[in-house]
Amino acid sequence: MSVLLGGLGIVAIIFGMAIWLGRRLVLPITVMAARLREFRVGESDGDVPGVERADELGDLARGLYEYRNAVESRRTAERRAEFLANHDMLTGLANRLLFESRLAHELARSARTGDVVAVFAVDLDAFKAINDRFGHAGGDRVLKRTAHLLSSCVRGDDLVARIGGDEFAVIQVARSQPAAIEALISRIFKMASAPSDEGVAIRMSVGVALSEPGQTGDQLHELADLALYRAKADGRNTARVYNKNLKDEETQRVRLARDLEAAIPANELRLVFQPIADTISLKIVAYEALLRWRHPSLGDIPPDIFVPIAESSGLIGAIGSWVIDEALRAASAWDPKVSLAMNLSPIQFRSVGLAAEICDAALRWDVDFERLELEVTESATLMGFQRDNVLATLEKLRKLGAKVVMDDFGTGHSSLGNLKEFTFDKIKIDRSFVATMNSHASSSSIVRATIGLGKSLGLIIVAEGVETEEQLSVLRRWGCDQVQGFLIGKPMDRFDLVGNGMVLVGP
Ligand code: C2E
Ligand code: MG
Ligand code: MG
Repeated sequence: MSVLLGGLGIVAIIFGMAIWLGRRLVLPITVMAARLREFRVGESDGDVPGVERADELGDLARGLYEYRNAVESRRTAERRAEFLANHDMLTGLANRLLFESRLAHELARSARTGDVVAVFAVDLDAFKAINDRFGHAGGDRVLKRTAHLLSSCVRGDDLVARIGGDEFAVIQVARSQPAAIEALISRIFKMASAPSDEGVAIRMSVGVALSEPGQTGDQLHELADLALYRAKADGRNTARVYNKNLKDEETQRVRLARDLEAAIPANELRLVFQPIADTISLKIVAYEALLRWRHPSLGDIPPDIFVPIAESSGLIGAIGSWVIDEALRAASAWDPKVSLAMNLSPIQFRSVGLAAEICDAALRWDVDFERLELEVTESATLMGFQRDNVLATLEKLRKLGAKVVMDDFGTGHSSLGNLKEFTFDKIKIDRSFVATMNSHASSSSIVRATIGLGKSLGLIIVAEGVETEEQLSVLRRWGCDQVQGFLIGKPMDRFDLVGNGMVLVGP
């Protein structure tokens, strides 16, 4: 009996020890093994059991705990490195690398699903001017705001990337196109035009291209860039969607740019002169030099077409110099009481020698500086390239006696701001307001208010594009100082000016 009892006791002790061993040793080891397994697949965030124990199992648990922490921080570093490799540091957006791989992926997927992939190429307008004016910190702020703006316009599965500099891109995948791109374009411009506390408005140009079967990502992005280029040429702060015509227009632009290079040596350029008269007496007070190009096979190309091409291809410097010399040569033969108005492109101001060049030509042709009127558009002044250089050059020319004229007043974005920043002598009201002045109340208010503003600031006001007697009589009544337009005289060749009481001398 006692043997039996002793046996049972031993069994009970063994059983108890087994349970104790199970709880104290086997269970923690099993939990540790489970944590290790979870950890291997990156899911473990729970505690490692047993770290507080003083025995060997505690040692094991602590070792495991340290190992886990070390691996965890390596993983975080790897994730960060991967993020950095695929994202832009400043804005946190995807970078070019991620953009390209995602685009390739979406194009491959769309071949199966029948979706259409749209690429938006986005570029800030006048970003260089923002940097010049507000410094790099100011430029960075505008880039971050743009990143935020684009990100808040897109849907969750679209990708916004910063490709570099002030160049952004969006990948949008949708079934119903062009509805989806139209919606995104309108969201972007609506948000960009919303008033903000930050002073500088975000203005951007957008080019969009839609995928076609068999296209590579590079090809699609290139077409979006082409549309972007078009949006910039069409006056910026706008969007263009790529189509086949655009490609033809682009080919035409490239051809014109090439032919324009040969235009000066081939004598295809000439100047015509349009009179500007006193509103009351209609006596001619000045002639504006306007550039003409007769292309050998395409005929007359309007300056609205070829001047922007000359600007974007860098030819405007040479052409502008030719205009300055040719115009002063013509003016040297005129009645010295008649002034010469010349148009200057914002790009010409990039050359530091512009003021000296005008000086030299005036001396060479013996034309008084007081007879010079230099017409600049608003883009040349406030938002243009190297704004401070532009203003300094204009000031230099003004000090010498030339008049500075703001051309096409009312068509820019910051007309009044410009007047505050620089002293102009003369303002030309854009012909679009004059043309609609008698039919649109808003145009007539603008014309009237500009004349009033000129009076109060002591500036001469010129109305451009006067075509009818009715317009002339209204402008007289409102007190506009000078008029220019087909009613007064069309642009004329140099030789036709002789009949207007001008003496023509020289070659
Ligand atoms: P702009 O300086 O505003 O020149 C006035 C434009 O209005 C000229 O067009 C002129 O022919 C046109 N115009 C004048 N009166 C009337 C009118 O009664 N009715 C209508 N409908 N139009 C009238 P154009 O010659 O085609 O020149 C267009 C623009 O090209 C000029 O605008 C100017 O910005 C630019 N441009 C012309 N010549 C030069 C140049 O030598 N250098 C530069 N940088 N730009 C030039
Ligand atoms: Mg002009
Ligand atoms: Mg004008």
